[in-house]
Amino acid sequence: LRRNPGEAEFHQAVREVLESIAPVVDRHPEYAESRIIERICEPERQIIFRVPWEDDRGRVHVNRGFRVEFNSALGPYKGGLRFHPSVYLGIVKFLGFEQIFKNGLTGLPIGGGKGGADFDPKGRSAREVMRFCQSFMTELHRHIGEHTDVPAGDIGVGQREIGYLFGQYKRITNRYESGVITGKGLAYGGAQVRTEATGYGCAFFVEEMLRARGTSFDGRRVVVSGSGNVAVYTIEKIQQLGGTVVACSDSSGYVVDEKGIDLDLLKEIKQVERARLDVYAARRGADAVHVPGGGVWSVPCEVAMPSATQNEITGADAEALVRSGCVAVGEGANMPATPEAVRVFRQAGVAFAPGKAANAGGVATSALEMQQNASRDSWTFAHSEDRLREIMIGIHARCLAAADEYGVPGDYVAGANIEGFRRVADAMLALGLI
Ligand code: NDP
Repeated sequence: LRRNPGEAEFHQAVREVLESIAPVVDRHPEYAESRIIERICEPERQIIFRVPWEDDRGRVHVNRGFRVEFNSALGPYKGGLRFHPSVYLGIVKFLGFEQIFKNGLTGLPIGGGKGGADFDPKGRSAREVMRFCQSFMTELHRHIGEHTDVPAGDIGVGQREIGYLFGQYKRITNRYESGVITGKGLAYGGAQVRTEATGYGCAFFVEEMLRARGTSFDGRRVVVSGSGNVAVYTIEKIQQLGGTVVACSDSSGYVVDEKGIDLDLLKEIKQVERARLDVYAARRGADAVHVPGGGVWSVPCEVAMPSATQNEITGADAEALVRSGCVAVGEGANMPATPEAVRVFRQAGVAFAPGKAANAGGVATSALEMQQNASRDSWTFAHSEDRLREIMIGIHARCLAAADEYGVPGDYVAGANIEGFRRVADAMLALGLI
């Protein structure tokens, strides 16, 4: 705490991992002897930089950019960029720290990193977003590379932004280095299923979790928070698996649509028009209700899929979900449930999939994109989706096996932390004092 003052989200993420891995460190004295915990909690490198840009009226703005290169024991730093006004070092470090173990858990050769800026894309024209991305990459380009550090998207950074960022990287370096960034459009080195991967992967993980309990999504009532990249493709896959998603949200409120969210309409409003959810309700007519403000977790459901942002499910929200009959929670977002909420879910016996495991499909498919870029290949949608599904089934099995091994069967939080930690810690030991 003294070493990283004021970084509340980073402290929260570290505490959760350390609580789970205490028995692993007890069983393996070599971890303590080589001070693995202290080393793993300290980023290898943190870059903070000025991002000046000009808006459409010629006014100059100055934002702060970040890239935290946390751990490269398993491969090049890998993790997204977030553009949101709440971004500061504590958020980037929490996300980067989580990313180390998530990437370890995938079994793929990728290290952990994260970045972003306190830039608010809301209400900005496409030209303003482009100028911001170009300025951001003008500094970032010297720190990244296909063998060094490979960014991707996150909140506020979708395919449009990735295109602008990659374009500026290519222009500055004069290198068509496709593997330097993932989440690219299909026309310029992107991979099938990358757009859908986090949401689809999360649905696959929860499907496995339900299967382990002898049940499925079929006929289940589901609530998803958010209506961005992760939320939309979570909804799509759950609908394909037979569930009914009755509510979703954005930062201005939520909609309840008892007949099930109309996904084509939602995509049109969010991805094409970049409008708010009240427009969804207005167009959908009598079937849907828009409620301004927060509170999506007051909508009764059997499965909850938080897919917006950190700490969006409080202890009180979790109690309301349990009362309404919720049996499973899958974290599409990173750390959306507060520690109190996680306690409530555990005590109530709710199957709980932590983000590190449940949303790892995004970064795993990014690693597949890097693989295709390196071999100048491109796989079909069906093949890529099969690979994603296999990876999620594998992560689910590894979480369960690690939880069994440490005497906490069915505890996915412990299982994910233990398995992710072991992979990274063993690589660090093998590489000497790094
Ligand atoms: P998007 O920007 O596409 O969507 C974010 C959604 O969450 C929007 O609906 C947004 O509403 C809402 N939201 C964001 N911040 C807040 C807030 N403070 N309060 C209420 N609502 C909010 O981002 P993604 O879908 O890519 O990311 C969502 C989550 O998933 C994040 O936690 C991210 O770290 C995690 N994640 C994403 C991956 C990916 O591949 N994209 C991979 C793994 C995890 P509004 O538009 O109104 O702001």
